[in-house]
Amino acid sequence: MKLTPTVHVVGGGRFGFGISGALDCHVYLLNGGSELALVDPGLGLAHDFDTILENIRADGLDPKRIRKLILTHYHCDHIGAAAEAQKRLDVEVFASTLAAPVIRSGDERAVSLDVAKAAGFYPPDFVLPPCPVDVEVREGDTLTVGELRWTAYETPGHCDGHLSFHISGGDRVYLLGADLVFWGGRILLQTIHDCRIDAYSQSVFKVEKLDFDALLPGHLQISLGGGKEHVTKAAESFRQLGVPPNLM
Ligand SMILES: [Zn+2]
Repeated sequence: MKLTPTVHVVGGGRFGFGISGALDCHVYLLNGGSELALVDPGLGLAHDFDTILENIRADGLDPKRIRKLILTHYHCDHIGAAAEAQKRLDVEVFASTLAAPVIRSGDERAVSLDVAKAAGFYPPDFVLPPCPVDVEVREGDTLTVGELRWTAYETPGHCDGHLSFHISGGDRVYLLGADLVFWGGRILLQTIHDCRIDAYSQSVFKVEKLDFDALLPGHLQISLGGGKEHVTKAAESFRQLGVPPNLM
């Protein structure tokens, strides 16, 4: 589904557009002209990644032009399909320095898959396939996808090793915030080992300093204009020493 000349949504489940597996996050495809990048390929149950590839083709794009797979954080609804995507597309995989070893080993406990299965979020027999990571991304690193320039920001809080990207060079300026901030200034705190409220506030303050038009979250509504107001709203709550409204 083409949102803008730069951004396609090619997957998403029941907290998205319902166009791939029910548990998938928003799966974004960014078009840099000469090259495409896929972001967070979803949970990857059964044939769900086939559906994502079909969605890409239905948008008139050839999956063979995808050269990079960017992983924002290691939660399974975002990276369960990463190993399959890496194999089938032969892409270079990018993740934060902190998330990379966990993604390479498929460490269930580190990604909170053990507690998420116990809570009934994922099928009890789901196993996270380990995925190679080629490039470890740190704060301030830049990468290019065709004409697009991506700058990485370390934004922990929702979980350790979470990255957000400021993306310029396309039809507008984007903040790919993943699970940092959602529409209406909501955030996503969970009782998992690496969810940290103090780090969360600092991450929100950090991206509040950036200029951007569109906010691309990992779930729910996408704002193509005025995206910054959602970040500002969350930051206002944190500045009052409070907690922004939570998604769950
Ligand atoms: Zn998450």
